[in-house]
Amino acid sequence: MDHFIYKDGKLHAEDVDLTEIARAVGTPFYVYSAATLTRHYKLFTEALSPLPHQVCFAIKSLSNIAVLKLLGDLGAGMDVVSGGEYRRALAAGVPGDRIVFSGVGKTREEMRLALTHGIRQFNVESEPELLALSEVASAMGATAPITLRVNPDVDAKTHEKIATGKSENKFGIPIAKARAVYALAATLPGIKVVGVDVHIGSQLTDLAPFEAAFQKVAELTLQLREDGHEITRLDLGGGLGIPYTRSNEAPPLPTDYGAMVKRTLGHLNCEIEIEPGRLISGNSGLLVSEVIYVKEGEGRTFLIVDAAMNDLVRPSMYGAHHDIVPVIESTADRQDYDVVGPVCETGDTFAKGRALARLEPGDLIAFRSAGAYGAVMASEYNTRPLIPEVLVMGDQFAVIRQRPSFEEILNRDSIPSWL
Ligand SMILES: *Cc1c(COP(=O)(O)O)cnc(C)c1O
Repeated sequence: MDHFIYKDGKLHAEDVDLTEIARAVGTPFYVYSAATLTRHYKLFTEALSPLPHQVCFAIKSLSNIAVLKLLGDLGAGMDVVSGGEYRRALAAGVPGDRIVFSGVGKTREEMRLALTHGIRQFNVESEPELLALSEVASAMGATAPITLRVNPDVDAKTHEKIATGKSENKFGIPIAKARAVYALAATLPGIKVVGVDVHIGSQLTDLAPFEAAFQKVAELTLQLREDGHEITRLDLGGGLGIPYTRSNEAPPLPTDYGAMVKRTLGHLNCEIEIEPGRLISGNSGLLVSEVIYVKEGEGRTFLIVDAAMNDLVRPSMYGAHHDIVPVIESTADRQDYDVVGPVCETGDTFAKGRALARLEPGDLIAFRSAGAYGAVMASEYNTRPLIPEVLVMGDQFAVIRQRPSFEEILNRDSIPSWL
């Protein structure tokens, strides 16, 4: 459920008319609903109670500091995968002890940053990383709380580019080797084992792969305790999918996910951590764009819009589907369109043969479910400025990231004196 609905024939974000935002900030832009973000975060906290738990929002899905502040103020922790994201979490006022650090390539500098300002735990993904962290922490006279991210060799049955839990993926430590690496961790200075971590992929539409992975984590936890480790925390990663279109079967709800977590792991008396990204942010955002031209091609009609693959890359990168709706409700006849952007690549195609009520140049459209992996994956390809982000709460809206001027963009380059 989200808070983007038609009122008086115009699409609104909560109580704000999107045509009003378009007039104020220009197109294209992203717009997020505070009510939807809040609702989705609370679905998870409710689904996991009464187990002790911490929901850590996966910043990589939507990293604007205003959004992080909104979620952080509700009690959310943050899952970061770079020093940059760590800094965003701090800038949003989230204390270090609510930040978990994931990712296969943490640098020593990033480790020092997190140990200096505070960290809930590092999710360590390899033996070399564990050794580096031990060196860094002990040199600082600090102790790094860690989990090891185990790779359970479970097929998440999602897009190959976002499946992370098979043995051929780069992520985690093979679960069969985990006990040996935990034994090593226990001997290392500057390291304190606190739990186990697993994350098997993104946009999962079935609970079965999660359950298979969590059962393996439960078995491992008992073994590790027998080996003498104190396992008090289980980080279950993110990955719960969202409905990208209303016609498909809906993915499992957080309540079903929570019930499954309790069933498979509840008896272990651990604090449960989860790292949802997409389920909190995905349906909390739209990308709003204006039609520039309607071009008749050979047997097809191109709807050329002012958003492009550099603004929202998911369709061209993953073949992803985003529902497209008119901002002004229309009863015009439907027509099939190839919806494309201005970038000079055939891959700059949002949809092929999409039936939409007839549109004219100047009309506004909205790409739904664009809150996650939208703005964060944008680039300035074709020297198209990063587009603004707008946050709506009730009847208020604010630009939470400005569109940069061309001057700012050009000034980042410099011409060497010898040229
Ligand atoms: C990407 C990622 C997440 C979030 O995944 P979603 O599918 O957006 O929920 C959580 N944890 C880790 C380690 C990730 O890499």
